[in-house]
Amino acid sequence: MVHFVGAGPGATDLITLRGQKYIENADVIIYAGSLVNPALLDSAKPDCEIENSAYLTLEQVIAIIKQADEKGKDIVRLHTGDPSIYGAIREQMDELDELGIEYDVCPGVSSFCGAAAALGLEYTLPEISQSVIITREEGRTALPKGQSLKEMAAHGSTMVLFLSAGLAQRVREDLLEGGYEKDTPVAVVYKATWPEERVVKCTIDTLPEALERENIKKTALIIVGGVVAADRGSYERSKLYDAGFETEYRKNIK
Ligand code: SAH
Repeated sequence: MVHFVGAGPGATDLITLRGQKYIENADVIIYAGSLVNPALLDSAKPDCEIENSAYLTLEQVIAIIKQADEKGKDIVRLHTGDPSIYGAIREQMDELDELGIEYDVCPGVSSFCGAAAALGLEYTLPEISQSVIITREEGRTALPKGQSLKEMAAHGSTMVLFLSAGLAQRVREDLLEGGYEKDTPVAVVYKATWPEERVVKCTIDTLPEALERENIKKTALIIVGGVVAADRGSYERSKLYDAGFETEYRKNIK
């Protein structure tokens, strides 16, 4: 049996209780060494076999899983954040389906949630943005037709850019061409929830120089939109907690 487990964004106490239990019981752990905090492996059994997938191909990962599964071992495939976001888990699940190997998925705290916590922001503020676009700048992985960063930017909603800190110049151009103003607020969160977490505030216009100055090229999220700089009075308060608004749970007593 294979458990795909979301390791969370970095801090070792931001893995779920279920994920932690899977780590403690595993006979084999294959972890994404480029981003998963290795301290999470401290709670593995002393005889647990540990493999770093940063050095492996998909075929090699599947071969390790297959061999272990044939021996009835408990296998954890540990991914950073939540495995459903840029986790490359679908291709592994397809291979396991082909081999008839059972698996399940244990969700994790994605880094975009860790970044919001670091910034103390809410992605969805009434009147500013009610949508979050999670996307990336085009890299070696092409973006599907109609989903370029420029086209996504045209919505003007909150945007969270993964895998793009090394491409700041292009990010700036695409966001501006998409229709954002130069002074649109931007926050970059480097290694959210790790001890070395850093927050950099800038604008779309100053993003490339800010990242250059801070020497941030990877393991960072770029968050774009009015919610980054919203202060009291710049957004509508929620209807949910409005004293004049009745909900199923809270009736107004006149
Ligand atoms: N599944 C992961 C994302 C994997 S893609 C998740 O849910 O978070 C790898 C990218 O995620 C990195 O290039 C970076 O953009 C982002 N990332 C992962 N961990 C991060 C962290 N702790 N702080 C900031 N960005 C992070």
